[in-house]
Amino acid sequence: MLEEFVKDRYQRPIISLRITLTNRCNVNCLYCHHDGMITSKDEMTADELYSICKIAKNMGVKKIRISGGEPLIRKDIVEIIDKIASLEFEDISITTNGTFLEKYAEDLKNAGLDRLNVSLDTLNPETYMFITKKDYLESVKAGILKAVEVGFYPVKINMVIMKDINQNEIRDMFEFCKENNIVLQLIELIESENCDDDKFSADYHYKLDMIEEKLSEIADDVYERKFMQGRKKYYINGGEIEVVKPVDNANFCANCSRLRITPDGKIKPCLLRNDNLVELISHVRAGESEEKLKEIFMEGINKREPFNS
Ligand code: SAM
Repeated sequence: MLEEFVKDRYQRPIISLRITLTNRCNVNCLYCHHDGMITSKDEMTADELYSICKIAKNMGVKKIRISGGEPLIRKDIVEIIDKIASLEFEDISITTNGTFLEKYAEDLKNAGLDRLNVSLDTLNPETYMFITKKDYLESVKAGILKAVEVGFYPVKINMVIMKDINQNEIRDMFEFCKENNIVLQLIELIESENCDDDKFSADYHYKLDMIEEKLSEIADDVYERKFMQGRKKYYINGGEIEVVKPVDNANFCANCSRLRITPDGKIKPCLLRNDNLVELISHVRAGESEEKLKEIFMEGINKREPFNS
């Protein structure tokens, strides 16, 4: 089955394309690494995104994930999804902070979006304010419920666990998820370049191993997602929890099947590197042939190599 995919030099198939639509964001999470800013006029248009996805589709890519910054900050987000969906990928998903979700959930569903991950680390208004510096908690909750109501399944909540901030809230968040048919993803905090303070990691990092041990004890069933770097899913009392561990290991790289596009239209062969980007958008803007654009994609794919091996 893997034969239909384009593969890199390490025989890893390119199954999904992860597109960062923008670096702009309307919240300011304390752990975010805030990639360099580009202005909205330099971002890729809906038509340019369509052209890029069309090449990817013709090269065998099956899945598109849209991320940011905050992707729903783009006023043309529904048009973008509508255009990409017309290419009939197996799966189109978005990761969002949920603040604009109540407004857009139904239109995104109708446009052809398949799945949603909403980042929400706490249900406590003060903790939400501490983490994001904004008071959008109620809008995010309303957005999540709207997404469930219009039929997205599964909606997933991404909860980054931080020591002494929200590690005691997992049970409450799980109950909220279970009640609303939502999958909870617990994410281990990754060190952030944003924090000029080396203490960041020591202050907030909370290893998820202990939580996983606990989950294994109480789970009715456990399932390992082979093609998702061995992520485990725990089924507990009719609810579901996934655990996402740091990506800096050889297993992550060996199973990496993602190519990335930066908000300023470059191919990013590796999540963990910025020194081997391949310029793409200027070629799309210059109206280069599909053949030439495929060559540029292949250049990006050929630059892929496991960061950790
Ligand atoms: N704005 C969107 C959102 O909030 O989902 C998309 C971008 S955000 C960078 C994507 C995901 O990365 C979020 O779930 C966020 O919690 C997670 N994330 C960001 N920085 C992180 C860090 N230092 N450690 C772990 N997860 C992080």
